[in-house]
Amino acid sequence: MDNKAMYQLTYGLFVLSAKDGKKDNGCIINTAAQVTTTPNRITIAVNKQNFTHDMIKKTGAFNLSILDESVPFEVFQRFGFQSGRDVDKLDGIEALRAENGIVYLKEHASAFLSGKVVQEMDLGSHTLFLADVTDGELLSGGSPVTYTYYQSHIKPKPQTTEKKGYRCKICGYIYEGDPLPEDFICPICKHGAADFEKIG
Ligand code: FE
Repeated sequence: MDNKAMYQLTYGLFVLSAKDGKKDNGCIINTAAQVTTTPNRITIAVNKQNFTHDMIKKTGAFNLSILDESVPFEVFQRFGFQSGRDVDKLDGIEALRAENGIVYLKEHASAFLSGKVVQEMDLGSHTLFLADVTDGELLSGGSPVTYTYYQSHIKPKPQTTEKKGYRCKICGYIYEGDPLPEDFICPICKHGAADFEKIG
């Protein structure tokens, strides 16, 4: 099995947001897809380590902001590289609230969708949520950002470094050591060893 074959799958990038009581939160996902049109349903797969995961499991509701190509790296740092358990990720950001009471991004989003969970499946590291689309609006209408575009245009180019070890292809974190443990999880973005490349 050549893992490079897997990299040819295409993905969008999204801010997935939820609300539990007074707490707003969001995280970055790349796994959202429409699966049926009648009824209009989407699936999202969410890593269980994300605080947003627990909020959706509890409340059964979320918004999906479909990021456009204007999105700066800071949005990925804000929503992807820290935990809502520790910080208020919405602090100082322009967000609007949909009819379901949950925030969505006002800037750098092509559109947003609201989802109401109808079914979920335990996938081990992730939960797959199947949801009815209950609301949605076109925002910038700009080209949705793809994972490939993120890798080539948004993620900062890796610094030439003397360091040896393994670099996370998602966020750039460097593990200094060899070998990289098979069960290693990136401390910044929570991706596994498969998303690391050897450097040095
Ligand atoms: Fe990482």
